[in-house]
Amino acid sequence: MRVLILCEHESHGIRLCSRSAVAFANLVAEQTRGSVECLLLGHSVAAVAQDAAAYAPVLVADHPALANPLADRYAKVISDVVKQRGCDLVVAAATTFAKDILPRAAGLLGGAMASEVIGHEFRDGQLCFRRPLFAGAVVATVALHGRPKLVTIRPSAYPAAGVRAGHGDITAVAVDEGILPKKTEFEALQSKLSNRPDVTEARIVVSGGRGIKSSEDFERLVGGLADKLHAATGSSRALVDAGITPNAFQVGQTGKVVAPELYIALGISGAVQHLAGMKNSKTIVAINSDPEAPIFEVADYGLVGDVYELVPQMIAKLDGAL
Ligand SMILES: Cc1cc2nc3c(=O)[nH]c(=O)nc-3n(C[C@H](O)[C@H](O)[C@H](O)COP(=O)(O)OP(=O)(O)OC[C@H]3O[C@@H](n4cnc5c(N)ncnc54)[C@H](O)[C@@H]3O)c2cc1C
Repeated sequence: MRVLILCEHESHGIRLCSRSAVAFANLVAEQTRGSVECLLLGHSVAAVAQDAAAYAPVLVADHPALANPLADRYAKVISDVVKQRGCDLVVAAATTFAKDILPRAAGLLGGAMASEVIGHEFRDGQLCFRRPLFAGAVVATVALHGRPKLVTIRPSAYPAAGVRAGHGDITAVAVDEGILPKKTEFEALQSKLSNRPDVTEARIVVSGGRGIKSSEDFERLVGGLADKLHAATGSSRALVDAGITPNAFQVGQTGKVVAPELYIALGISGAVQHLAGMKNSKTIVAINSDPEAPIFEVADYGLVGDVYELVPQMIAKLDGAL
């Protein structure tokens, strides 16, 4: 199969989640004796293209009209590249970026799409995808009829690809601004800069739930412990709904799905919708004042007690240890 990876990037290189998409694409290409290429869209992305070439050959659509990720423009460029190069499979990490763009490209191409893929297999020579349903209670195996096939994969399901021997070729893709959709204009980006890692990419995540009573307490307890461990901060939806934490922190069925090496849940009950976003973490630690809290059923280590007493002690211990 000819596999195209839609790469997400930051100023210095491609994002870790896209390296998971590369790992998935490499596996499929190996199993089908096919090939893999990365597609990079943006403006002034020469340095990023160099970084991406460490993982696979790169196609670069570099144009001022693509400086911001406007979904209708990006989808048009992707669909043109897929047609020109005869790609069979398009893959991206299951992030808000790709969730906005890839279904539009599927629509333009008349292709078949599956999202949030956590595994794949061949059945009678046909590539099938595993994806969770009903907050992870059921895993469906689906076959896509149609060509091309487009999928988003959960980064936690495919360990990030390492650099390959030798640099891949970098090929420019011609962009005709005249045929790009103009119905959406970029206005502004509002984002909070944080020194903490992204919750989907961090090795350690410290999350807070309704046991934390205010934004100040969240920052002091959850943020304080996260900083000692160089961890990301997450939260349950209860705190997002209460305006204590921003939307981007939400872990769960309707938030981010994470699978870090260590997940520390502070004052989180363990509702099924929250578990859907973190139960595949390698090690789970929970602190909760209620010994019957369902979070203890999935926790590897549990501490029954008040987060307001225990977390400052943990921070103090780490202060001494570091
Ligand atoms: C369609 C749908 C989608 C949803 N999606 C999500 C989602 O993506 N993510 C998500 O998280 N939720 C989601 N929810 C909400 C979910 O059902 C729960 O309501 C939510 O996860 C509860 O958050 P919580 O554990 O912080 O709060 P609670 O369930 O109220 O639990 C708070 C816990 O803190 C403990 N506690 C209280 N004080 C202390 C203290 N001082 N020290 C230690 N422990 C203490 C309590 O014992 C309790 O166990 C969704 C719900 C629906 C219906």
